[in-house]
Amino acid sequence: VAAREALDRLIRDVPDFPEPGVVFKDITPVLADHAGLAAVVAGLAEAGRDEQGRSVVDTVVGMEARGFILGAPVALALGAGFVPVRKAGKLPRETHAVSYDLEYGSATLELHTDAVRAGSRVLLVDDVLATGGTARATVELVERCGATVVGVAVLMDLAFLPWRDALGEVAVTTLLSVG
Ligand code: 5GP
Repeated sequence: VAAREALDRLIRDVPDFPEPGVVFKDITPVLADHAGLAAVVAGLAEAGRDEQGRSVVDTVVGMEARGFILGAPVALALGAGFVPVRKAGKLPRETHAVSYDLEYGSATLELHTDAVRAGSRVLLVDDVLATGGTARATVELVERCGATVVGVAVLMDLAFLPWRDALGEVAVTTLLSVG
């Protein structure tokens, strides 16, 4: 409830960004608000706990770039480590790479091959689920390491886009649905 209230109050709609016709959800005012940030991190961390409140994950994976900001404090809250998934060419060592289609062109995400241990239980954290392409590619990267994705936790989802289809059976926790 606290997270929901903070998101309703603080997220800003930005018309025609990054291109005409798109309404971008700017979450940076949530990050700037201590109570909002705390509520959102606590809400996202719930996705990595069982009914008794115990952590069920050992690694949180965050997607560049807002998934880094949210994922690291969620990892600390869950007693887990944090691992970044980055856009192509940013990680310095050997990587797994997955490419996926965008509306125009394609994108590639990478994960260090030794960053997630085989058998790990992983929670993915990002700010927004739109088409689900970013999250789907990240699930594939984590599975290539032999690890299990326990779920995807996002601050907000765009309910009018087909992210559910992209993610199949993967459990999704979203603090706010819009659209
Ligand atoms: P998808 O791959 O699901 O289409 O897009 C999700 C990715 O794009 C996320 O990493 C997210 O940060 C970014 N994204 C797409 N739309 C928005 C938006 O309206 N607001 C924000 N903050 N991020 C967005």
